[in-house]
Amino acid sequence: MNALYATKVNCPYCGNDFQTLRVRYRHSIPYKIDSDFCPHYKEGDSNPHFYYAKVCPECGFAFTEEFSDNFPLGTKELIKVKITAEWRKKEFGQVRDVEKAIESLKLAIYSATLKREKHSVLGGLCMRLAWIYRTENRQEEEERFMKLALQEYEESYVHSDFKGTSLSEIRVLFILGELSRRLGQFSKAISYFSKIAEHPRRYEETKILEMARKQWRVTAEQNREHH
Ligand SMILES: [Zn+2]
Repeated sequence: MNALYATKVNCPYCGNDFQTLRVRYRHSIPYKIDSDFCPHYKEGDSNPHFYYAKVCPECGFAFTEEFSDNFPLGTKELIKVKITAEWRKKEFGQVRDVEKAIESLKLAIYSATLKREKHSVLGGLCMRLAWIYRTENRQEEEERFMKLALQEYEESYVHSDFKGTSLSEIRVLFILGELSRRLGQFSKAISYFSKIAEHPRRYEETKILEMARKQWRVTAEQNREHH
């Protein structure tokens, strides 16, 4: 059985139907998951994040299942000028190597920015791209996209725009803590982990609460070593 299968999707921008690949669940079990949920796959296994962003071959608009159907006023015109007018027909519906995966995520980040998608959606895209760079040992790019993810999740937290998505406030706080810690912003990380420890709904998410307590200690230790 092939690890990948084709599905048909509809471009929410131009209406074109096109084919894109997906990874079968049992072929995408990571052998290791980092403290910020970055999955690692064995050589030869398929990384589902390579196929997370769907790219319309006709117009160049890139999106994920988390995008809303709504295009705020003026954004369709902006996408036309900035993406579609520049687009030369290109296929992302085949097996993607790491460069193609990176390109697809960058296109989705650009599309999401022009479309004014939720900050939590943009944060998720930036974080996935950072993870791919991590598995490629490209530290500078990994950091660049972790910083962008941190900014987006901070906006998402402040404006509660993660509401109505699969993310809870506690999960957003944990991601903020981990991104801050990995970027060396230790006191900020500690303050986010502390917010989880004091959160009124912490006992509804005991696994994250445990992880936050553990990462709080890891951060405090790193902070001591740093000074
Ligand atoms: Zn399209």
